[in-house]
Amino acid sequence: MKFTVVTILPELIEPALAAGVVGRARDAGTISVATVNPRDFTHDRHRTVDDTPYGGGPGMVMKAEPLLAALDAAAPRGDAHRILLSPAGAPLTQARVRELATLPHVVLACGRYEGVDERAIELGIDEQISIGDYVLSGGELGALVIIDAVARFVPGVLGEAASVDDESHSAGVLEYPHYTRPPELAGHAVPDVLQSGNHAAIAAWRRVEALKRTAARRPDLWARLAPTAGDRKLLAKAGCAALPARTHVALVHHPVVDRTGAVVTTALTNFDVHDLARSAMTYGLAGYHVVTPITSQRDKAVHIAKLWIEDQHGQHRAQALQLVRVAASIGDAIADIGPDTVVVATSARPGAFPGARRTTAPELVADLAFDPRNVLLLFGTGWGLAEELIPSVSRVLEPIDAGTGWNHLSVRSAAAITLDRLFGRST
Ligand code: SAM
Repeated sequence: MKFTVVTILPELIEPALAAGVVGRARDAGTISVATVNPRDFTHDRHRTVDDTPYGGGPGMVMKAEPLLAALDAAAPRGDAHRILLSPAGAPLTQARVRELATLPHVVLACGRYEGVDERAIELGIDEQISIGDYVLSGGELGALVIIDAVARFVPGVLGEAASVDDESHSAGVLEYPHYTRPPELAGHAVPDVLQSGNHAAIAAWRRVEALKRTAARRPDLWARLAPTAGDRKLLAKAGCAALPARTHVALVHHPVVDRTGAVVTTALTNFDVHDLARSAMTYGLAGYHVVTPITSQRDKAVHIAKLWIEDQHGQHRAQALQLVRVAASIGDAIADIGPDTVVVATSARPGAFPGARRTTAPELVADLAFDPRNVLLLFGTGWGLAEELIPSVSRVLEPIDAGTGWNHLSVRSAAAITLDRLFGRST
């Protein structure tokens, strides 16, 4: 595979590619790297490649003509894939790296100054790539990053073909931890399983560690990961049931506040019993607790659920309504679920529950993925949960916010949106 770097600083490229895996691949002829300097395509005494920006503003802009001529010298348009390194490009991913490794010739154009005349991009570039959300002073380091990452996928560059497939980002998970001799270092031992010689046990341990690490360090990756049936089995064996299956919701009628901030007990709403049960069922939750201190209201909730269960015997709605339980207080609901339950509050108000850890939905899911405890999500009726009367809350979800400045959702809607953010599969 061939790389051509178009740069006004070719001296930055060569030293970084002289040694290691890439250096050996160049020596073996598996990959080749050349440079082309836009300064060689200027026609003035100073070999000028930049000029002041139209419209004013700080800094200089790379001129289009020398850059386009250098790109053509690297490879005529269509004969190679031309990439411009740009902080405004698409973020580089391992999936894109793998695709680039299938191309015979990649040209990497490096910007300098404030950037590149837009017409050079329109006329001469096929793709723009960023190597991260920060700004470098030039594209050369980005070009080196791409060459290094892509070369590893070129057949013959790495010894074992399998080593690229196992690595972080290859399948949306981070890689498991590695160990080598000695077996113990400053009180830190190599895990026994790695010394057991049991290859199936080692593979299982590595997969669980990779999943744990991904959840702990990259909630964004964890949110996109769909654990396989094999993963679910491994996690269950490691004592971690899937999060929805140990998550409960509570619809709280007391203690909640009214519009004046006074603590009140609200009345049960028929729809709430019914609709939250269906949402809870959709997302695979373990239970739905209707919390009210008023006995007749609890009886009413049980009655509503029973009506649907009997009327719809064995059908979808009946299954959902079977999730309904009642409790006189949040404490009673927790006692019903189990004493060691993580209580998560929801609120429309930013800054609610100041003593609790604020969290987004993906952070919460990643944070609790390997915590074996049950989870109780509290939804308040009325004007919301009476915060100071609910000391058991350890985490609070960020309010639902669509940027309109108005977020007074019905509790049924808020619960449905929240459950989808936590457990829904985006397409
Ligand atoms: N003014 C530009 C902007 O805000 O998008 C930044 C120009 S930067 C100082 C100069 C050059 O460095 C860019 O044209 C690009 O080639 C390269 N560069 C800077 N940051 C980069 C990144 N994160 N990924 C890829 N290339 C980058």
